[in-house]
This record gives sequence, C-alpha cells and structure tokens, in this order.
Amino acid sequence: MSVNIQRDNHDPFYRYKMPLIIAKIEGRGNGIKTAIVNNADVARALARPPMYVTKFFGLELGAQTSVNEANDRYLVNGAHDAPKLQDLLDVFINKFVLCSSCRNPETDIIITRDQMLYKDCKACGKRSPIDIRHKLASVILKNPPSSSSSKKGTASAIKKSKKGKNDDEPEEEEGSDDELTKRIAAEAEGLPPSALTATADDDDDDDDDWAVDTSKEAVEQRMKELESQVQGFSLGDDDEEANDTYSQLGHWILEQPEEPSNVEVFKKIKELGIENKHRTLQVLAQTLFNENIISQITERAPLLKKLITGENHEKAFLGGTERFIGLEHPELIPAVPKILHLYYNLDLVSEEVVVKWGSRASKKYVSKDVSKKVRKAAQPFLTWLEEAESEESEEEEEEEDDEDDE
Ligand SMILES: [Zn+2]
Repeated sequence: MSVNIQRDNHDPFYRYKMPLIIAKIEGRGNGIKTAIVNNADVARALARPPMYVTKFFGLELGAQTSVNEANDRYLVNGAHDAPKLQDLLDVFINKFVLCSSCRNPETDIIITRDQMLYKDCKACGKRSPIDIRHKLASVILKNPPSSSSSKKGTASAIKKSKKGKNDDEPEEEEGSDDELTKRIAAEAEGLPPSALTATADDDDDDDDDWAVDTSKEAVEQRMKELESQVQGFSLGDDDEEANDTYSQLGHWILEQPEEPSNVEVFKKIKELGIENKHRTLQVLAQTLFNENIISQITERAPLLKKLITGENHEKAFLGGTERFIGLEHPELIPAVPKILHLYYNLDLVSEEVVVKWGSRASKKYVSKDVSKKVRKAAQPFLTWLEEAESEESEEEEEEEDDEDDE
C-alpha cells in the first residue's frame, strides 16, 4: 500500500505514490539504531538515489548514518519511529523532489558547471534552484544522481514489458480462460450453499493465507495508510455523513488483525446501515482484496452477490476494482481479463454493464490514463464476451427460423 507523494494532497486521483516508510529499531543502549527497511523502494518512488534519503535523515536528526546499497541496508543511529521519519521525508520531498513551480514530483536533479543544484521539472519545464545551504546539497554534489536510478527509466521499462506481454500473448490468455472456467466451476461446487449463513468457524481455514504483521509498528503503519486512503473510499459523494460511514467500513476491514469472514463483514455493513448502497461495493473492492485477488474473488462471491442488487452496484464494484488495481496494484493489470471473467462467471457483473464499462474510459475512479490502461488490458475478455454473444444470438435466430418454418 502507498500514499500520495505529497501527503498533504488528498486528491484520490493523484497518481504519484510512494510506499510508507518501514523503520525497525535494532540493538540497544549506545548501539541502538534504526534500519529503514524499505529505503530503496521509497527512494525509487521519488526517483532519487537511496543514499540521499538516509543521509537526509541523518543530517536532520544529527545522527550518523550507514548506507550499503549492495546489501540493501540503510541505518540511522539512534531510535527513530516511522511517523517521525515520514514527516522528515515530507521535508526532503519538498526541498529535493517537488517542482517549486508546479509541485509535480517528476523532476531530475541537475548539477550545473558552477556547482549549483536545480530541480528540472518534466511536467512544466521549469528549473527551480535547490537550497545549497542544506548539508545534503554537498552530499549530492559528491554523489551526483546517476541516470540509471531515474524514475523515467524504470517506469518506461515496466510499461514496455507489460505492453509486450499483452500484445504477444492473446492466445495464452484465451487458453487460461478455459482453465479458469473449469476451476471456477470446480470451486463453485465446493462452496457452501451460502457462506453468509455459515458459522464463523468455516472461515478459520483461510487464516493461514493471511500473514498479517501485528507488531506495534506494523499496526501504526497500517493506521497511517488508512488515513491516507479515507479519501479514496469517499470520492464524489457530497454527503459528508455518508462519506464518513463508507470510511468507517473501509477502516474497519483494513484494521482487522485477521481477515474478517463474510459474515463479519456483512454484519458490519448492516450495522452501518449501508447494505443497499452501491458505494459500499466500491469500498469492498478496494479493501477485501490483495495481490491474491484471483482466489479471494471466489471466497468473497457469496457476500458480494448478496450486496450487488443493481446496475449501480455493479458499476461501483467495477470502479472500486479499477482503483484497487490501477492505483494500488498495477502489477495486477495483466490479470484484468481473468478478474473480469471471474466477476462475470460468479454473476457479480452482468454482460451489459461490463461491456458498457469497457467501451469508455472514465475519470470517475482513477485518472483517465489509468482508466485507459485497465480497459486495454480488459480487451481479451470483452472480445470473448462479444464473440460468445454473437454465437448465442445466431443460434437464437436459427431457432426462430425453425419455428417460422413449422
Ligand atoms: Zn513544474
């Protein structure tokens, strides 16, 4: 999970995300130090060399640091908790990442011949000076950013490989769809008549799949992530009180130390009085799944089916899915056809709604860019639907003809 690079920007459409800092305090006494476990990931999201981030913390905290890129070890002396480091990171981002003119984070650091530092903005083209009085400036001068760690390179490389995959393997997709259909049928048979009325004990089997870190730090991290997600649950709704209810549901699901059962989730939804609301489905799509979405859809189908009672519900469910995949798990984009196929086979979405959804990119849930990407990925499934439909209608026509003959 991730937060907006500008954490004070609560725009749910904001496309620049970074992981929250994970800090681990090691040792004791004079030797106590803080390991920034995901320093490299955070730095990558900011398109800055990892050492800049760690060194900045050390300079701000007046602490020694140790940077070992090869072993992925980033240490700051002393005990510093993640929220404090996260606040410092905001300062770093402001000074060394965001364009001073348009506040976009897509900037390169440029060192001029006279050893001045600038942020070169790709969005608006402006160059803004970096305050060289900050001690990190001399660190940057001594360790200039290499082009290999630039965000542009990484992002376009990922894009390329994904694009290649979609273009080159349409047949493989179809093949796995057949596999999938078989599996869905098999799994559906194994489902209890209604998992909603089943006892909570039935859900205990799933617990092992969920390795939830319940350490104090991890819980604090999750709480912070939640705060940043609130906006995502409530976009577009004018009614503040209602928004609050959806946030409550989202928070509640994510805050559970263990995956809540279908029964528990349904009870909570009823308690909040939003069991008939379409927006509930958006929240569920954003919170019930993780990277194991494919197996989770089947598990959650009984709950979802009970709540999806109209076209608006289906649309909100697709919208929430779009947000979940497009913003939180872009690595799942190649799995979009499978996900939609599952939704369709489990009667969570109707053909009519999914075809309409696929025919036009929309800015309602994600940026237009992301929306287009998700729909492009969905194409194999939509084509399959179309073909299945045209075969069906041909058969119907033939039948009608037969009747006419008699
Ligand atoms: Zn700019």
